[in-house]
Amino acid sequence: MSAHILDGKAIAADLRKTIQAEVKTLTAAGQRPPGLAVILVGDNPASQVYVRNKQKACEEVGFLSELIRLEADTPQQALLTLIDTLNQREEIDGILVQLPLPDQIDEETVIERILPTKDVDGFHPYNVGRLVLRMPLLRPCTPKGVMTMLDHTGMELAGKDAVIIGQSNIVGRPMALELLMARCTITVCHSRTKNLTDKIRGADIVIAAVGRPEFVQGDWIQPGATVIDVGINRKDDGKLCGDVDFTAASEVAGWITPVPGGVGPMTIATLLENTLQAARLHNDKT
Ligand code: NAP
Repeated sequence: MSAHILDGKAIAADLRKTIQAEVKTLTAAGQRPPGLAVILVGDNPASQVYVRNKQKACEEVGFLSELIRLEADTPQQALLTLIDTLNQREEIDGILVQLPLPDQIDEETVIERILPTKDVDGFHPYNVGRLVLRMPLLRPCTPKGVMTMLDHTGMELAGKDAVIIGQSNIVGRPMALELLMARCTITVCHSRTKNLTDKIRGADIVIAAVGRPEFVQGDWIQPGATVIDVGINRKDDGKLCGDVDFTAASEVAGWITPVPGGVGPMTIATLLENTLQAARLHNDKT
């Protein structure tokens, strides 16, 4: 058996085209384009790449995009003051603080300072709480992007058994809430989970968000299951790989996402989608 490939690159490109067309319609009607401010503190090489990709995507769809670079030793208060200013600026609909932050800055304090309607990452407790209560507003980008990909399989999600490996605030937990909202039966696994492979073997949908190269083996996958690989890892030879042994798993799975070209591009396209949504929220208010 050979799995269908869930082509995140292609789905993301379509999503970006739709967003670009909507921005053209907005601006043709005399409205301002959506605006995203990205704050990068320090010079983490991976963060620099992510930020560059986000900026490029913003420009491509016609958003206003502002990158603010701060020194690695920036005091927390200076970052909070900057966020206060961006919260007030009308042409900025979304504020994204690239994580991780240097040690002197507390991530939760920073996330909570962003106005919930400008929290396009969907990490603010207000937005997470709304997701818990099944009344989502701005939803975390990676899990939301995964839901868009699952939609492309045409599969009925209600009643499926989904296993999520990883319980982080940015991927595993919101992913579980998204799948629960779609009426899957969810199992969230982490480093203390017993009998992990048995749990994965029983899953119709496997979401791997572990951060360990090729951790999930092909023979852990139920034949025909849908495998979503969120992991982005760099191997010793410099090549990127996911958290799933793609070659082995694609022999067994029904659907599978590649790395690169799977969840990664969807996360960025979903960030654009969230920024457009935030712009609509702000326009509706004025
Ligand atoms: P994280 O915060 O490090 O969380 C990893 C999770 O995996 C934790 O919950 C951890 O359990 C669990 N885990 C570790 N070893 C395990 C084991 N042996 N068995 C079962 N569970 C285990 O990572 P993250 O931020 O969620 O990211 C996960 C991966 O996704 C990384 O590769 C990251 O680069 C990638 N990522 C990709 C995108 C994208 O757009 N494609 C976006 C975000 C992240 P404990 O909680 O018990 O420690």
